[in-house]
Amino acid sequence: NARLFDVDRSSVSSEGYSLDGKLDSQRHSDILQKRETLPVRKQKNEFLDVLKKNQVIILVGQTGSGKTTQIPQFVLEAVEVETSVKRPKMMVACTQPCPVAAVSASQRVAEEMNVIVGEEVGYSICFEDNISDKTVLKYLTDGMLLREAMAKPLLEMYRVIIIDEAHERTLATSVLFGYLKLVLGMRPDLKLVVMSATVEAKLQDYFDGAPLMKIYCVHHPVDIFYTMKPESDFLGATIRSVVEIHQREEPGDILAFLTRQEEIEEACHRISEEIGKLGNKVGPVEIVYLHSTLPPDMQQKIFEPAPPPLVEDGPPGRKIVVSTITAETSLSIDRIAYVIDPGVVEQKFYDSRVGVKFLMVSPVSRDRADMRASLAGRTVPGKCFRLYTERSYNQDRHAQTDPEILRSDLGSIVLILKKLEVPDLRHFMNLPAEEALTRALKELSDLGALDDKGNLTKLGNMMSKFPLDPQMAKMLVVSPGFNCSNEILSICAMLSGFDKVKARFVDTDGDYLTLLNVYNEFKRNKEDLSWCDTNFINYSVLKSAQNVRQHLVQCMSRCGIEMCRTYLYGPEYYDNISKAILAGYFMQVAHLECTGDYLTVKGNQYVHLHPSNFLGGKPEWVVYHEIVSTSMNFIRTAMDVRGEWLVDIAPPRYYLKNFPNSEAKQILELLEKWKEEQRKWEREESKNKRYVPR
Ligand code: ADP
Ligand code: MG
Repeated sequence: NARLFDVDRSSVSSEGYSLDGKLDSQRHSDILQKRETLPVRKQKNEFLDVLKKNQVIILVGQTGSGKTTQIPQFVLEAVEVETSVKRPKMMVACTQPCPVAAVSASQRVAEEMNVIVGEEVGYSICFEDNISDKTVLKYLTDGMLLREAMAKPLLEMYRVIIIDEAHERTLATSVLFGYLKLVLGMRPDLKLVVMSATVEAKLQDYFDGAPLMKIYCVHHPVDIFYTMKPESDFLGATIRSVVEIHQREEPGDILAFLTRQEEIEEACHRISEEIGKLGNKVGPVEIVYLHSTLPPDMQQKIFEPAPPPLVEDGPPGRKIVVSTITAETSLSIDRIAYVIDPGVVEQKFYDSRVGVKFLMVSPVSRDRADMRASLAGRTVPGKCFRLYTERSYNQDRHAQTDPEILRSDLGSIVLILKKLEVPDLRHFMNLPAEEALTRALKELSDLGALDDKGNLTKLGNMMSKFPLDPQMAKMLVVSPGFNCSNEILSICAMLSGFDKVKARFVDTDGDYLTLLNVYNEFKRNKEDLSWCDTNFINYSVLKSAQNVRQHLVQCMSRCGIEMCRTYLYGPEYYDNISKAILAGYFMQVAHLECTGDYLTVKGNQYVHLHPSNFLGGKPEWVVYHEIVSTSMNFIRTAMDVRGEWLVDIAPPRYYLKNFPNSEAKQILELLEKWKEEQRKWEREESKNKRYVPR
């Protein structure tokens, strides 16, 4: 069972480990020494005292104060003392907003405790966990904790739950607050620690006036500089700023924020080139990039010190980190003195009305900008260069970023909450507008996951067991009905594999069948890396897909879903697969209008097939996986289907009841009528048959 995030110890550091995988004593004592200097260490007793006296506490401390790595260890010690056993039965859980943070924290803490990751300290993230019977401290994503609650609603395996990085306000964290509040009422023995980098006054009210404890940190001043004119080329400006700082400024490391992986890689490449041109006039640099899908051994580089000067008394070396928002709070980097903030962030938005996901680069809010700036003053006085005007800071930006719950597709989360039997969802979710929730509920009932009363059906129950979008879960659960669970499984794995690695294996994703073919070829070529290279296919996506697939197979067998395959060269191959896809995604179809454009049935949006799709021509109907809105609306991953199948597979009169008028709808209406006629005819026929006089 391949672990995506398995650490190759030899690549983390060639020295410092003994043969049994543990740290050697020198390195371990260095780490312990470093740990003693963290601000939280001074307040350990105070913290444990407050924890003892309260069921819920809120802990606020700036990034780098030691919350993520130290507090769970304090808590664990306290639990051990309390139960007077070295390995208590009930564990400590600490949630993180993203998988990278969970893996990184568990590695660091395992080092500090001098144990191997997966034993006393482990992690659990979607499609992967590294824990054992010995595990007493578990770092996990907030989404995973919710999933665990589905199996054990009272979370009895935990004595203390720590919700970390609460200021990120991810969808799962917001929902967990509500859920844990219910659980705390039922389990007086459970304790909750909420940790945040910023004071969230509302949280204190939410948890009925739980005490708020602050961690005192020395904070160095940070000078903030703005540009005189608005900047449009963020990449160029970032590169120029880095090079200038390296030439002119005092020693100290640099942290620059950019939005996307490709942009970050290009920036690193160009910075290295520019600085290379300066020769010996400047000190050596170590350029590291960081994004959420980087393997852990690469991430570890951000914690390493800057290179020493090339010659004695020569210009000092510098570490330059170019990062997505991962470095904002989830991973704290030491010795940063200069922050470059272009003032933008890439965020996901979901428009529930038309069902479109947008990936948009938008201005960062003022609180995020301040957070970025403060990173420059963590260990030394610093400077922050904002690549926008002061006016833009004051006028064009929201004070805070909207919590994720206000801009997400709520389908998956609602399915989980239904499974958790949370009463009165509207009250529970407490959203300013209920529209998104109403739509999510409607969608789940159209998929057959909820009955008329809004209760989970048998199908819904099965769907909830898969860590997938409701549509994808449905397509997988019903696929044996189309005799192709094996094929649909590979398609699901590929689509989720992409999401996980946040990459695409070729320029475009082609269609569902291409995904399947690529996966099958990959297996046929014995997972050969050079085969991937020759075919310009992203190896890590495929490895990740393979890992996801294994997990899904386990979920299937737990649910008792039959594994069956459809014969590759049989006449039904294509039809079976398309029908199964349609069973999950019947809401997402587009029709080729007589104008030659595609129009989605839901929301009447004009969309384009990606120019390099593999569909061959322009089929009349396509089912699509998602619409991605950049300069134009593109359908990402599609497959052609037949109009008759649509009315066959969607609930009766579904399109006619739900969607605005269009050419497509008129055709579907005709098809629906035709189908009714046919049914009538069949009924007559069978009646006639029954009464044939002998
Ligand atoms: P907080 O959660 O308050 O931001 P952390 O507990 O994450 O603080 O980090 C405390 C210190 O531990 C940081 O200064 C950081 O440099 C160090 N640290 C954290 N993770 C690692 C790691 N994986 N490798 C090396 N140092 C680390
Ligand atoms: Mg932290």
